[in-house]
Amino acid sequence: MPYSANPTPDGTKPVAAITGASAGIGEATARALAAAGFHVVVGARRAERIESLATEIGGDAIPLDVSDRESVDAFAARLPRLNVLVNNAGGAFGLEPIAESVDEKWRAMWETNVLGLMMMTRACLPALEASSAGHIVNIGSIAGLESYPGGAGYTSAKHGVVAITETLRVELLGKPIRITEVDPGMVETEFSLVRFDGDNDRASNVYRGLKPLTAADIADIIAFAVTRPPHVNIDHLRVTPLAQASATLAHRQ
Ligand code: NAP
Repeated sequence: MPYSANPTPDGTKPVAAITGASAGIGEATARALAAAGFHVVVGARRAERIESLATEIGGDAIPLDVSDRESVDAFAARLPRLNVLVNNAGGAFGLEPIAESVDEKWRAMWETNVLGLMMMTRACLPALEASSAGHIVNIGSIAGLESYPGGAGYTSAKHGVVAITETLRVELLGKPIRITEVDPGMVETEFSLVRFDGDNDRASNVYRGLKPLTAADIADIIAFAVTRPPHVNIDHLRVTPLAQASATLAHRQ
């Protein structure tokens, strides 16, 4: 890993908290930031997974459900200090057109991707500001930049993430807190398995005939963004596999 965390004034390791670190992009980001010299605190609902990850990278694991205000506040209260918050927890549930929308799926997508991100950010802002060099990284999606058939529950939530990122950028102007949004296209993780409720065939069909991004590809980009000098703010990064031009246009062999 070629990246190094910016030093802190007292020489202690900067602390990075990552939500949704029990799988995929969050888990890979935990490894990448630990390798870059951060003390990493990982959160997710599957406690066993984050505990073994924390042991492996020499960090801490705290159970976290970002859709639950008490869980969010308890997580934030246990952070000793905080330099970087990666709001990664999220995902999609289903691919039904609006005419067949399922309220529970929409509610879950909004509560995780939008409200969860807001509550985590609100709870962590005081510690980020106190660090004198804070950084929030929001994991959005190309679904936040485009719309596609059947995707409205997820695309509307990720469009919401774009609006939150842009609002934070102006609200935090003058404070020592950077804000970056990373918007990936297809990344092969548990994402599609979750979206299609454990249906392996449907999930693997998403990546059929092309080389998708890996979680490590996105983790590498997050590590790059958070290790720039503190005056450098990368606002937005849209990242897709070479074979994917848009949410609906991919080149398959
Ligand atoms: P993943 O492999 O399914 O991982 C999702 C992570 O989010 C898991 O660790 C899961 O942990 C956590 N999570 C879900 N609900 C949570 C909750 N209520 N509280 C705490 N943690 C929760 O999917 P991924 O691809 O890595 O997704 C990470 C982020 O990237 C998401 O925001 C997703 O929308 C975004 N994204 C993914 C893709 C893609 O193609 N894969 C593309 C664009 C954007 P637990 O279940 O253990 O809680």
